Amino acid sequence: MADRHVDVLLVGGGAASHACAVALRERGFPGSVLLVGRELDPPYDRPPCSKEYLRGERSRDATYLALPDDVEVLTRTSVLRLDPAARVARLSSKAEVSFEHALLATGANVRRLAVDGAQLDGIHYLRALGNADAIREDALGGASGGTGGAAVVVGGSYLGTELAASLTLMGKRVTVLMQEDVALQRAYGRQAGAWFQALLEDHGVRFVGGCDLAGFVGDAEGRLAAVRTSRGEELPAGMAVVAAGAVPDVMLAKAAGLDIGATGGVRCDAALRVAGVEGLWAGGDMCEWDSALHGGPARVEHWEVASAHGRTAAAGIAGAPAPHAEVPYFWSDVADWVSSEYVGVVGAGGWDEEVVRGSLDEGVFSVFQLRGRRVVGALSVRRGADLDEARRLIVAGGQLPPDALPGT
Ligand SMILES: Cc1cc2nc3c(=O)[nH]c(=O)nc-3n(C[C@H](O)[C@H](O)[C@H](O)COP(=O)(O)OP(=O)(O)OC[C@H]3O[C@@H](n4cnc5c(N)ncnc54)[C@H](O)[C@@H]3O)c2cc1C
Repeated sequence: MADRHVDVLLVGGGAASHACAVALRERGFPGSVLLVGRELDPPYDRPPCSKEYLRGERSRDATYLALPDDVEVLTRTSVLRLDPAARVARLSSKAEVSFEHALLATGANVRRLAVDGAQLDGIHYLRALGNADAIREDALGGASGGTGGAAVVVGGSYLGTELAASLTLMGKRVTVLMQEDVALQRAYGRQAGAWFQALLEDHGVRFVGGCDLAGFVGDAEGRLAAVRTSRGEELPAGMAVVAAGAVPDVMLAKAAGLDIGATGGVRCDAALRVAGVEGLWAGGDMCEWDSALHGGPARVEHWEVASAHGRTAAAGIAGAPAPHAEVPYFWSDVADWVSSEYVGVVGAGGWDEEVVRGSLDEGVFSVFQLRGRRVVGALSVRRGADLDEARRLIVAGGQLPPDALPGT
């Protein structure tokens, strides 16, 4: 016998759960809603962790997301076990909660790199507000040993570039160590990536590309002194932040016997119903759903996608399930130097053609990504209206004639 019953249990206190709670009430859903999150903080805006919050420009409270008063929130509480058939969850408080519907939205954890020296002081990972606090403290506390304020960021994707920009503004001399030849190459392609890298270089960031992290070297006190590359180079650094991607958190889902897909997320149908389980939904970074737009199973780690998933799940819970059909949208702020926006359904298939609109030289441009003459993605810098067109073309899905999408 469970200790209590709720109509909707939201597992995880991130973007997907938050959006689901808000959307349920907006839809007039009258039932009880309980959100259970294991972090110290109530649901908050995660993207500022590498941006304004990290730099101390936004307070902790200002990152908190508003929730309807009649949504109950438990912080510092984990869902330890889930029995999907009985529809009962066991919490770390030992309480057992039965539910009609549950949304699994446990997000992702950082990908940790097991290399020599990984235990040294001064090595950071970034996922939560607390990680941002520790990075800020190190960066502003002059944690550079004899390295003259040098910091290394491992990883050249959006998180790596945002971190490099923020740490530079905080007075560090930053080197980015990355596998890619140019920053942001995997998401934005080589030519746009080179443009972003040049912008960061103009602000003093150094890049060491085409190379892996080999290990960390410590000083006599057990603090980081240098970062070793796979080419044998040693980059002096009193602190390092590893931004090497995230791994969907499917521990709870796996233990509950749920199907995990090839992307590492929990398998869901197009309306985000967990495969084969009545009353169970999933959303956000840990959800792999059947996406008509992607042409198959997809998993995406973007804030707006997690929020949109929450809304799709809310529709289903409220009795109006429908396929999740929003084109994934993503943005990234490299300090206040530049913002980029992106829409796309690229997935593992990549793209084979790029069409540039505007001018990279002038810093006002879009890059459309095409696969087999079909638009599958678009990046925009200061040309946001192009993304509306890209969205339309992605949804339409047809092949473009050879002369379509000329650069202007
Ligand atoms: C530093 C940083 C910057 C980012 N910047 C951007 C950006 O600029 N643009 C963008 O589009 N995206 C950005 N992202 C990605 C975006 O934040 C994520 O895609 C989004 O947060 C995913 O939401 P979610 O609800 O799936 O999971 P999360 O936000 O990760 O929330 C999941 C929550 O569930 C909790 N949890 C896990 N297991 C349990 C359990 N068993 N019981 C209870 N609670 C549990 C976790 O602790 C976590 O709090 C950024 C991510 C990071 C880390």
